[in-house]
Amino acid sequence: MATFDLNTPVQFVRGVGPIRAGELAALGIETVGDLIEYVPFRYETFPRSVPIGQLTADGNETVIGAVHSLRRSGPPGAQRVTATVVDGTGRCRVQWFHSPYVADQIQQGDCIRVSGRVTQYRDLAQFVNPRFDILDDAKDPFGRDEDRFEAVYPATASMPAKAIGRMVAGVLHQVIDRVVETLPESIRRGRGLALRRTAILRIHRPVRIEDAETARRRLAYDELLLTQLAIRMVRRRRDVDQSAAAIKVDDRVDARIRRRLPFALTPGQEGAVRQIVADLRDTRPMHRLLQADVGAGKTAVAVYAALAAIAARQQVAFLAPTEVLAQQHHRKVSQYLTDSRVRIGLLVGGLATRPRAALLNAVGAGEIDLLVGTHAMIEKDVSFRSLGLLIIDEQHKFGVAQRAIARAKGGSPHTLVMTATPIPRTLAMTFFGDLDITTISDSPPGRQPIRTHVVRSADADGMWNAIGQRTQSGEQAFVVCPLVEESDELDAKAVTVECERLRGGPLRGVGMDLLHGRMTAEQKENVMRRFRDGEVHVLVSTTVIEVGVDVPGATMMVIEDADRFGLSQLHQLRGRVGRGRRASDCWLLTDAWHDAARARLQVLVESTDGFRIAEADLALRGPGDLLGKRQHGMPDFRAANLGTDLDLVAAANADGGTILERDPLLRLPEFRALGDAIRRRFRGSGFLIDSAPA
Ligand code: ADP
Ligand code: MG
Repeated sequence: MATFDLNTPVQFVRGVGPIRAGELAALGIETVGDLIEYVPFRYETFPRSVPIGQLTADGNETVIGAVHSLRRSGPPGAQRVTATVVDGTGRCRVQWFHSPYVADQIQQGDCIRVSGRVTQYRDLAQFVNPRFDILDDAKDPFGRDEDRFEAVYPATASMPAKAIGRMVAGVLHQVIDRVVETLPESIRRGRGLALRRTAILRIHRPVRIEDAETARRRLAYDELLLTQLAIRMVRRRRDVDQSAAAIKVDDRVDARIRRRLPFALTPGQEGAVRQIVADLRDTRPMHRLLQADVGAGKTAVAVYAALAAIAARQQVAFLAPTEVLAQQHHRKVSQYLTDSRVRIGLLVGGLATRPRAALLNAVGAGEIDLLVGTHAMIEKDVSFRSLGLLIIDEQHKFGVAQRAIARAKGGSPHTLVMTATPIPRTLAMTFFGDLDITTISDSPPGRQPIRTHVVRSADADGMWNAIGQRTQSGEQAFVVCPLVEESDELDAKAVTVECERLRGGPLRGVGMDLLHGRMTAEQKENVMRRFRDGEVHVLVSTTVIEVGVDVPGATMMVIEDADRFGLSQLHQLRGRVGRGRRASDCWLLTDAWHDAARARLQVLVESTDGFRIAEADLALRGPGDLLGKRQHGMPDFRAANLGTDLDLVAAANADGGTILERDPLLRLPEFRALGDAIRRRFRGSGFLIDSAPA
């Protein structure tokens, strides 16, 4: 038998091979160690088994025994598989019809469990097409009869749960002894956590069903603790190693900046500005997350910070996730700075070679003070002369690695990241432990609440009529078509078709246009300008308008197939209206008219509070959807549930702090295993790119 250790690539496990290894890698399983840490999401219970000798016909029974013989028979297409199964008390017969694959799964000598109705065949008890599973070989320490729970694993189309179960079973007992304890005894006992080895064994093979939860909690704590430690170590290193330009804002500069803004800041904005100004004075780079609900006015705060940096002769990069948003920021900042000496550039994809080269030259020579742009900004040939401040808008649309690259453009600039997806506290502590957080909780004066309606698609005529009429008095509407797939082309088509349909029917005669990801930067800019200027009354669009778009004249938002969006995403989309002084409406169209779908959308009808909605989203769909997978750049949590494991999150955060206080680099013998575990967990994730713990 091959010998494995935890680092053995999973490809060498029996029954895996290169193709399966690829499929497993997609599930985050690369090594034997990953495999045994793969957490089941539920368990099937088998009834207690009876000795084969005591089987009686006509009952539902479960037996456990060894496969004594195994035979395939019958013509192709009508094959059957017949096995004899024995234990110490007798023999029974098992038949599978139309399931030739059974013979590929079971081998002579395997220990199997069979469960189903018992019939009589000559002098033998017989099972026909029973449920079955293959048990670990005789080494199973728990006694077969107690082994009644079958773990069911998160699966994919090409990697069924059963197959994963068999692979786990194939290695579990061989390697379980190699699992090392990562927690010092005092912490483990203090938190009432299981031994790591026991947890890994029991998560797959609970003796009682409570064991599974005890095991999961231990593994969940580990995930949370490792994340905390990694974040804190990254942060600590950063604070020691990096330094940025100290940017001082005196009263004169402050007054000059404020004169450029067309409104007085709200108290929330003032608070944010104060914190940022304090951060910028320091040579330790700022790492601040500015979070505020949609429409709260984050841009103005960013502009303040940018002008402060520019006044101190630093360059500023302002990164936005979409071209539409980058163009909007560029236009707005240019407006604020009309007749000033500040030199502003816009860098988006698809710029022609010459102008692009000229722009990059100017940036490199320090002749551009503020560069607004999209991902195009993180390409290799972009470099700054003295980047003092990096601003990342709608940061959840960027991956951790992208953020790191952007930062690397300027050594270690002060960094301000902004998000309109309010992160519930539990998540913030877990994902943004490396950032200081500022929250703006008010909004600019004079806002009208948005009325939200859930409408069945089939009953939408009245809505379209109302929209058509309101456009006649100058109001404007967004119509959002959902993503068809991850395909710009199909999206473009869906938007075009919908625009034609509306034009030919419900919105005949209304000035309409469309917007999608396939258009060039120039086309997008053009459409947005015409919409902003009121030449276009209805804009049919993909979710490219999801983030940041600010057209205060728009008062109507239609979201088609709303059930296909997450609640937070719907809230973001809805946030495109309600920005002016006129009352706005948002209609959520849906065909899914069952209670659950409506109850979910009802959350939006009842609340316009992004935090509440995010909490609901978290409870309903888990953090992945809320954060976007790319955003945190961390390996997924398998055991931890960030929606419900609040106590574990808090425990891990506190313990992470205590541990690093004692041993900042995890070099003491009692913490060394934790250090190793961190490196294993975050290898290749990009999360530690900024500054990997030594
Ligand atoms: P978000 O936080 O969603 O990025 P924006 O920065 O786009 O919000 O601001 C939303 C709208 O509110 C914009 O039209 C902006 O001009 C306006 N706004 C921002 N701050 C103020 C303020 N203090 N007073 C009045 N209007 C403001
Ligand atoms: Mg914004």
